[in-house]
Amino acid sequence: MAQPALIVHGGAGPVPSSELADRQAAVERALEAGWSRITEGALAAAVAAVRHMEDEALLNAGIGACLNLDGEVELDAGAMEGSRQRAGGVACVRDVRHPIDAALAVMEDGRHVLLSGAGASRFARERGIEMCDPAIFITDRKRQELLQGADTVGAVARDSDGHLFVAVSTGGIKGKLPGRIGDSPIPGAGMYADDRHGAVCGTGQGEAFIRLSLAKLMVVELQHGMDPASVARGAVEHLGKAMSAVGGVILIPKEGEPQAAFNTPAMPWAMRT
Ligand code: ASP
Repeated sequence: MAQPALIVHGGAGPVPSSELADRQAAVERALEAGWSRITEGALAAAVAAVRHMEDEALLNAGIGACLNLDGEVELDAGAMEGSRQRAGGVACVRDVRHPIDAALAVMEDGRHVLLSGAGASRFARERGIEMCDPAIFITDRKRQELLQGADTVGAVARDSDGHLFVAVSTGGIKGKLPGRIGDSPIPGAGMYADDRHGAVCGTGQGEAFIRLSLAKLMVVELQHGMDPASVARGAVEHLGKAMSAVGGVILIPKEGEPQAAFNTPAMPWAMRT
């Protein structure tokens, strides 16, 4: 029997220090929401944590997601299971109430890995997933925000059967070009899971994660026997050195403690084993 574990993060983007405690509290609520489902398996726990964070207005996912250059919200979400490497994602969706639900449906459907825009919305609608008016994602606070920045929410879980699951959801990067897709829904870039080695999730400048295939690189390092804390630390160092990029990562190895690392001033995260 494996030791169950859950780690969640609320993004490594720039945050006024006055907001840090509130963001941390939001992440801890998500941890509780996820942990309450851990006996149902890693998928249920990770998805419940991310679904919760999609409703936390201080976090950049779902309600409270950042705005693109046109002042609109376009959401990405992704999910991957470590047992069979099934993966699913949606990108640039505007009217799916919980993008993580749609990502999961893409994974379970199995025909494709990533659907975007109108096609992703149509798929979600046909699957009976809750849809919404895009306006509900745009909070007054987001309208007022001027600073460029980024962050994402994510969760990685390991259940008592040793199965790993990663779930990610994001508004992407503030001021992004309409149509831009980040790393979060892309297996190997913003997330990856393989029961034989570990599962990881990233936050930060998505273009750098994509160019480095950073999530997959981390899992390969775990496969080669690198110590999980060094893998997490090394990944954010690599991000900084190779791409002059900022961000953070969380991971759960197939055995042992969850890890978190970031090269930004802060990244709210929480874990339980
Ligand atoms: N990685 C996300 C993206 O580029 C944003 C973030 O995590 O900060 O879409």
